[in-house]
Amino acid sequence: MTITITPTQAPVRVDEGKCIADKGCTVCVDVCPLDVLAIDLVKGKAYMKYDECWYCLPCEKDCPTDALTVDIPYLLR
Ligand code: SF4
Ligand code: SF4
Repeated sequence: MTITITPTQAPVRVDEGKCIADKGCTVCVDVCPLDVLAIDLVKGKAYMKYDECWYCLPCEKDCPTDALTVDIPYLLR
């Protein structure tokens, strides 16, 4: 088994291949109570604008294309 050590990264990852923000979707931005997500208007994809998160998960659950993954820190699981 390979052990992967990843550098510090934003807790929310967006699979840009799946994100349909370029077709007008803003669901994750709308449901986030912290307003930390945003749409990159140049790319037409959602991204984490502010590196803060409550790990409440509506963004991940409500995304219509399963493009969004929230990495919950080990200690919070
Ligand atoms: S809800 Fe999903 S598809 Fe819609 S903008 Fe957010 S990441 Fe993209
Ligand atoms: S888990 Fe909650 S706070 Fe974090 S980005 Fe998603 S909706 Fe916002």
